[in-house]
Amino acid sequence: MPIDPTLPYDDQNIFAKILRGEIPCNTVFEDDLALAFHDINPQAPTHVLVIPKGAYVSWDDFSANASDAEIAGFVRAVGHVARALGLVEPGYRLLANIGMDSHQEVPHLHVHIFGGKPLGPMLMR
Ligand code: 5GP
Repeated sequence: MPIDPTLPYDDQNIFAKILRGEIPCNTVFEDDLALAFHDINPQAPTHVLVIPKGAYVSWDDFSANASDAEIAGFVRAVGHVARALGLVEPGYRLLANIGMDSHQEVPHLHVHIFGGKPLGPMLMR
């Protein structure tokens, strides 16, 4: 079910549990500000999720309320993962689902990194 991104942060969401170590994940990258791990249900040969460690529901929440260091750390983590996975030369796609129309399912901000094959049109027609 898509989530309402205007609701307060729910610390029982699955990514909050991953951040607390209550649920395992296949980590690709981690530092003080961000965590990247393989999606449990990959939609491409490479499908990694990058999340800020802070409690932010959406891009709107993050951009309005995160510190400059948190924002920089998150953006740099995405670039780090793309480089580490060899995606820079072949290319890759970033996707952030925010709210109902986008079918965001997990109410903790995340960017999907897709790669490893030609990714087709930008949106379903
Ligand atoms: P959304 O639709 O919110 O943009 O994407 C949520 C993503 O989280 C989905 O691609 C889904 O497969 C992934 N996901 C949901 N639960 C888990 C989990 O427990 N572990 C991992 N690694 N990914 C998950």
